[in-house]
Amino acid sequence: MMDIPLTIGEIMRHGTTVHRDAEVVTWTGDRPRRATFGDIGRRAAQLAGGLRELGVTADQRVATFQWNNQEHLAAYLAIPSMGAVLHTLNIRLSPDQVAWIANHAEDHVVIVDGSLVPLLARALPECKTVRHVVVTGKADTSPLAAAGAEVHSYDELLAGKPERFDWPDDLDERSAAAMCYTSGTTGNPKGVTYSHRSAYLHSMALLAGEAAGLTAADRCLPVVPMFHANAWGIPYGAVMAGASLVMPDRFLQAQPLVEMVGRERVTVSGAVPSIWNDVLRHLREHGGDFSAMRVVLCGGSAVPRALMQAFEEEMGVKVLQAWGMTETSPVASIATPPVGAEGEEAWRYRTSAGRMIIGVQGRVVGDDDSVLPSDGDAVGEIEVRGPWVTARYNSGADPDRFHDGWLRTGDVGTIDELGFITISDRSKDVIKSGGEWISSVELENALMGHPTVLEAAVVGVPDTRWEERPLAAVVVAEGESVSPDELRDFLAGSVPKWQLPDRWAFIPEVPKTSVGKFDKKVIRQRYADGELDVYEQR
Ligand code: ADP
Repeated sequence: MMDIPLTIGEIMRHGTTVHRDAEVVTWTGDRPRRATFGDIGRRAAQLAGGLRELGVTADQRVATFQWNNQEHLAAYLAIPSMGAVLHTLNIRLSPDQVAWIANHAEDHVVIVDGSLVPLLARALPECKTVRHVVVTGKADTSPLAAAGAEVHSYDELLAGKPERFDWPDDLDERSAAAMCYTSGTTGNPKGVTYSHRSAYLHSMALLAGEAAGLTAADRCLPVVPMFHANAWGIPYGAVMAGASLVMPDRFLQAQPLVEMVGRERVTVSGAVPSIWNDVLRHLREHGGDFSAMRVVLCGGSAVPRALMQAFEEEMGVKVLQAWGMTETSPVASIATPPVGAEGEEAWRYRTSAGRMIIGVQGRVVGDDDSVLPSDGDAVGEIEVRGPWVTARYNSGADPDRFHDGWLRTGDVGTIDELGFITISDRSKDVIKSGGEWISSVELENALMGHPTVLEAAVVGVPDTRWEERPLAAVVVAEGESVSPDELRDFLAGSVPKWQLPDRWAFIPEVPKTSVGKFDKKVIRQRYADGELDVYEQR
């Protein structure tokens, strides 16, 4: 067979020609901006021309500091296709972290959304390798120039550039296409570099019917940011399939999201559970039209059954749980139940982290690094490998995370004979009580099934007798009230007695990380600092 390289340039060529009439709709809060895939292809060519003029050659890193919108999509296509490396910076990190990451990645150019200029300007003075900043939209760019960068208007840079670019056709499919840093909840962030081949294969896997099953009839709304593990592969997958994209830009609150879904007849969307929680609340209070929605992808942290059930029963929308990591491109498993599974059995599969998709292999490893059986019972660290699983971190950081050609995921759980993964915890969140493990995820999911509970995060806190005991930090819905005893009684139906939390704190909101996950580090710290009002059950 012919050895044609699997590249992002090929995804772009296909999507912007064969599917040139598919749409990219960018929300503006008012009237959406509309472009076709054909338009994006032409803009990508002009952007590549502009970047070449700024001296971007070979595998230089071009960073983006952008919302999900049409300009970001053009960067997604242009930068890797010209042979450079797309580096999606996380706009939610502190200026120090942004600068640390930009320096580590050696970013040469940053494309920034006009509305984010003030944020970038705070990091830029410490960014040693950035020579050029390209600004989309309108903004006062003086703080960028003051930081010593050459500032360019995106529109001016692209103006008059040819709508065709001489894309290299000899790129090695194993060369770097894009990079993304983990959000670094422990220690410094770690960089993962995706190859053209890994991005191509991951996109194909996402299109499979067993996965998201994207087709040209779909209209996809990636709420998950394009800086969070490539928006879970939705942008490249959509371009490959010719599925139209509805881009939320900075309008990430429940109200505009519900409006986008209804007005643009969105069929597929993806976001972390906390977003869907907000959307559900909004739908209950104000209504909304989710009638076109085929599937809502949810992951990044465990998806509470109560959330999935409410969407299905009240809105007729299927929520599909997926599991993965920045290191796995990110999709590794999807919780589609086996054919024939019904009722409670189906729920058991749907509330797992999912079945590994083709291309991903997994195993369970014990404390002594021995491989345990994948029988659904043996608990250990999950290790994975596959063509879109990273083999190392940038600059060889943290080599201990790699074990005999497998990635140690840091997630603890089981794998059953059908390849369904169940995650009980991240290893750093596991609660060790009297020598036994308690799953914080299980407790959270059970608690979030209580009608008054909006969110619940459970962490282990030091205990003189048991080493650690669970503390539940609970957010109660507006206008509701509930006591720790009532919650404990509620849990007692599904959780063994010794696992029940005996410390409770009612908090206004669970602190979140830069990608919207529960930030348990902060809760533990607040507890240690005596900042939580804790009710202790004896
Ligand atoms: P970060 O590591 O910066 O939080 P990632 O998005 O790469 O960012 O996080 C990957 C981790 O998210 C996984 O290792 C796992 O702990 C968690 N995760 C992702 N999806 C799920 C899921 N469906 N259920 C439970 N945990 C999940």
